[in-house]
Amino acid sequence: MRTKMVAGNWKMNKTLQEGVALVDELKEQLKGIEPKCEVVIATPFIHLATVAQMIEGTCIRLAAENCADKASGAYTGEVSAAMVRSTGAQYCIIGHSERRQYYHEDYDILREKVQLALANGLKPIFCIGEVKEEREANIHEQVVKDQLEGSLFNLSAEEFGKITLAYEPVWAIGTGLTATPQQAQAMHAYIRKTVAEKYGKQVADDTTILYGGSCNAKNAAELFSNPDVDGGLIGGASLKAPDFATIIAAR
Ligand code: PEP
Repeated sequence: MRTKMVAGNWKMNKTLQEGVALVDELKEQLKGIEPKCEVVIATPFIHLATVAQMIEGTCIRLAAENCADKASGAYTGEVSAAMVRSTGAQYCIIGHSERRQYYHEDYDILREKVQLALANGLKPIFCIGEVKEEREANIHEQVVKDQLEGSLFNLSAEEFGKITLAYEPVWAIGTGLTATPQQAQAMHAYIRKTVAEKYGKQVADDTTILYGGSCNAKNAAELFSNPDVDGGLIGGASLKAPDFATIIAAR
């Protein structure tokens, strides 16, 4: 049975004090509940060490939203995978469309980041997905396949087993335009087939594939009811503890 997961992506939101308050609220919401899935929150770097202490002994796991594509050294302003791991975080989002779009992270950079995350004991949550024009041109499957091949398919099967995939159609992120359950299921099934062609059916069956893009407390249950949708990567709705808790309960 592959891992089911609901992961929140805070993006560049919340001061340290606001982040602490949100974690407190989330812990309150989840008190006495045993989620049926892995619960992860991805916070800005500056929150990681504090949040890691706050979630000790709870069901909440911690992720960074990014890591550097270099191991260490004279890269002012960057945060390495080793530094992220040293905070207590276990996961790292890599390849979010906002990183690809605004910071020009290409396949090669993302391949480096994945390698460094794995080498430092972090489990990547690797994001893939097409922009609106690519879906309209009906090349969305090819786009996603290229993203997998470009940054992940150099990994061994054992390494690939540590990857969580997040299918995030870029046209659905932060727009309120959610993919239909049918669109999500079709793409997730395609991704699983593509992974199977590369690594075999067992690895593909064991791969957790999250859906992301305007997933919220209202639509999560229907999206998660699809056989190949193993959970969600949640942006905006993860900033409201009651909504995030509802999404966790929907999984
Ligand atoms: C995201 O940024 O990963 C995301 C899915 O955002 P939102 O839920 O706000 O669309």
